[in-house]
Amino acid sequence: MKSDTLVIAGGGPAGLTAAIYACRARISTVLIEKVSPGGQVLITDRVDNYPGFPEGIAGYELVDRMLAQAKRFGLEQRNGEIISVQPPARSGEPVKISLADGETIEAGGLIIATGASHNHLGVPGETELTGRGVSYCATCDGPFFNDAHVAVVGGGDTAVQEAIFLTKFAKKVTLIHRRDQLRAIKLLQEEAFANPKIEFVWDTVVESINGTDKVESLSLLNKKTGEKSTISVDGVFIFVGIHPNTHFLKGTVEMNQWGFIKTDEEMRTSAPSIWAAGDCREKPLLQIVTAVADGAVAAHSAELSMGHG
Ligand SMILES: Cc1cc2nc3c(=O)[nH]c(=O)nc-3n(C[C@H](O)[C@H](O)[C@H](O)COP(=O)(O)OP(=O)(O)OC[C@H]3O[C@@H](n4cnc5c(N)ncnc54)[C@H](O)[C@@H]3O)c2cc1C
Repeated sequence: MKSDTLVIAGGGPAGLTAAIYACRARISTVLIEKVSPGGQVLITDRVDNYPGFPEGIAGYELVDRMLAQAKRFGLEQRNGEIISVQPPARSGEPVKISLADGETIEAGGLIIATGASHNHLGVPGETELTGRGVSYCATCDGPFFNDAHVAVVGGGDTAVQEAIFLTKFAKKVTLIHRRDQLRAIKLLQEEAFANPKIEFVWDTVVESINGTDKVESLSLLNKKTGEKSTISVDGVFIFVGIHPNTHFLKGTVEMNQWGFIKTDEEMRTSAPSIWAAGDCREKPLLQIVTAVADGAVAAHSAELSMGHG
């Protein structure tokens, strides 16, 4: 790999947009993705808030289009997981990027766009029953729950949006939230409250997920009254926040207490020749529209710094 190459780590909306901008600036660009391009959007049934699609658009279709656009301008894409990064010790030296397969590559610049992953509840039964009724992706697993009773845990945008989506299949969706009101935007709340298939359980946490071969019930604790109860369910979908995929950068770039990377307005990190974009960076709104904006700014910033501007 030439040392004036720009490497983009992660192929979600931030990485794909950075790729479009970098390739159009005629920078030799390689995108390294550990699973398959698309990121979290691949598990989003429908995107209704991305401008330009008045009817909404399927998540996979939106990111397929981004990838096709980047390829049209010459993006080189490869599979691989980045496990560590060494910034240049002196100006003019390359960034060294180590991959899980043992290869180390050198690049003139690196944009980190490794996004975020879902949090676990950390309760008994969760790990054992994952894939057997415990799910973190309604788009992937919702169709397995035709006519079933499922629970959704969480109260933010994703939890409410996915609870609404699950009513397409399930006969009943019980949304369990640890507070007495939802955090989701008003429009989603209105839609959920108006949906006769959704029932709400407030001020309540899941203490364990029970079942032998598959999920059979949840043990619940009402935090206000201290009352314990059990509900029978066929599945449980967990949407209780996310954490950034930045563990491999510990000690390399400055992060906040939760591991989100700190950047300036030009997406520069604390390390030379390394930028960050999207959900992996500290910012107030983690959405597709902000991820793509970050990706564009990071690529522009890299372009100027790498002497292409
Ligand atoms: C169920 C759900 C519904 C959502 N609905 C909406 C919505 O309706 N509207 C909206 O705007 N947003 C929505 N979001 C949020 C939105 O998907 C994210 O904000 C957006 O995808 C962030 O983009 P990103 O490129 O920063 O990161 P991600 O989409 O997380 O992509 C990061 C990519 O990096 C890869 N990666 C991670 N670590 C490594 C590594 N070490 N080496 C190589 N590759 C790596 C990952 O495999 C992944 O492909 C939703 C999210 C979820 C989970």
